[in-house]
Amino acid sequence: MSITKPYDLPCIENLVGGELLAPAMGGYIENIEPATGQVYGLTPNSCQKDLNLAIEAAEKAFSLWANTPAETKAKILNKLADLIEQNQNELAKAEAVDNGKPITLAKNVDIYRAAANIRFFAQACTQFSSESHAVENTAINYTLRQPLGVVACISPWNLPLYLFTWKIAPALATGNCVIAKPSEVTPMTAYLFSKLCIEAGLPAGVLNILHGSGATIGADLVKHPKIKAISFTGGSNTGVAIKQATADQHKKLSLELGGKNPTLVFADCDFDRTVNEVARAAFANQGQICLCGSRIYIENNIYKEFTEALVKKVEELVIGDPLDETTQFGALVSKQHMHKVLSYIELAKKEGGEILTGGEQIKLEGRCSDGYFVQPTIIAGLKNNCRTNQEEIFGPVCTIQGFGSDEQALALANDSKYGLATSIWSQDISRCHRLAQQIETGIVWINCWLLRDLRTPFGGMKASGSGREGGLEAMRFFTEPKNVCVQFKD
Ligand code: NAD
Repeated sequence: MSITKPYDLPCIENLVGGELLAPAMGGYIENIEPATGQVYGLTPNSCQKDLNLAIEAAEKAFSLWANTPAETKAKILNKLADLIEQNQNELAKAEAVDNGKPITLAKNVDIYRAAANIRFFAQACTQFSSESHAVENTAINYTLRQPLGVVACISPWNLPLYLFTWKIAPALATGNCVIAKPSEVTPMTAYLFSKLCIEAGLPAGVLNILHGSGATIGADLVKHPKIKAISFTGGSNTGVAIKQATADQHKKLSLELGGKNPTLVFADCDFDRTVNEVARAAFANQGQICLCGSRIYIENNIYKEFTEALVKKVEELVIGDPLDETTQFGALVSKQHMHKVLSYIELAKKEGGEILTGGEQIKLEGRCSDGYFVQPTIIAGLKNNCRTNQEEIFGPVCTIQGFGSDEQALALANDSKYGLATSIWSQDISRCHRLAQQIETGIVWINCWLLRDLRTPFGGMKASGSGREGGLEAMRFFTEPKNVCVQFKD
């Protein structure tokens, strides 16, 4: 719901044409701290007028930026990464307040990775090259890879600055100008980032950041005829809406969507390490990472022992104020999301699930007494085809089931409309490689989870999306290949 600025709260601003601006029509959205449930600021609810100004600024900047030498682009991007590192404490605190995630996670993962993303693509732009194909004694083809023009980058709330920079950095490194829209649920670090972009000397109009709701400015942005490509991360339904809205416009689309990821635990795994990592994979960021392993399959002959150890591990998690450095498990991102998660726990009970641990909202004392906290929850006794096991919950809820053979484990893992990530835990490396080939997900981790190398293709199959981010995949997505064929003279 859009409101006009009603009272004296700090206001976030858009970045348009190198300046920080209030929204043209004065509409705002309340920004709520999930750990306290209190409104602590206002976010612009941008409109078509803001979008037109941003497009104009981006188009004006395009020729200069596209023709800026790679070394100069890299220098500016590296300066930006330096500034993120220098301001990591302020950024981590802002992320923890805005999102509800533990401040140590924000610092060591989100903000660390935001700087790493920018630095990685700063280097990539100086290393990027294109192909050449020779036809013996006859001709040579070479492929130009040119920037697309003005592109859109749209990101979700779960890893706010981390995923925002993951898209913006390759788009800028390849010479495009960008209109970026962070999630309206967690806009704060994108705003602080706007200020750092100005300080780093990014030329005016090269990156424009518009805040606001997905249904209004998000929908207008993707449909704008000047937008040549859309890099989107968010829910699968939103991905479909973007595909449909742009179907007749021939835009390039990179869609990173939802997941319902399987974790396969075999009897020969490194037991203690696997318990720790499977717990982390299920509950990091309160289970609000698209890659979290929320369907855990355990080989029957260690099912009881592993389940008991997993429950014990999860019950040891320190739940508390995200701003407390000792907190390991914070708040869910919003009241609406908390109610969605709690409704899935109720559904699981109706479907015959047994709650092994968790299952309830948590009421903390003091500052966080009105916060959106839900216990990390493990559910057993459900069939694979029930809604709890088929629909994305995107919260601190995982299910466990047993399996008797590799074939059964594979069938259970692949029995999902999603196809983002799998983790396999076994010391039989032949089995791991064989399963990795047969599993229908874009990412497979063997005896690890969330171990990232920014050069690798990142993305999902089936309802988890289309296209890949990361390394060369991202550099290629944000450029148009044009083949030039030259025949030799006889
Ligand atoms: P969401 O789809 O509601 O919103 C994502 C972004 O899209 C937000 O900025 C939102 O404002 C915008 N948006 C919403 N409707 C739009 C429209 N019609 N047109 C254009 N933009 C629109 O998703 P969310 O709730 O913010 O994030 C959670 C989802 O993101 C989960 O499904 C999660 O799995 C997914 N996710 C996927 C990945 C991945 O890499 N595959 C990573 C993180 C999160």
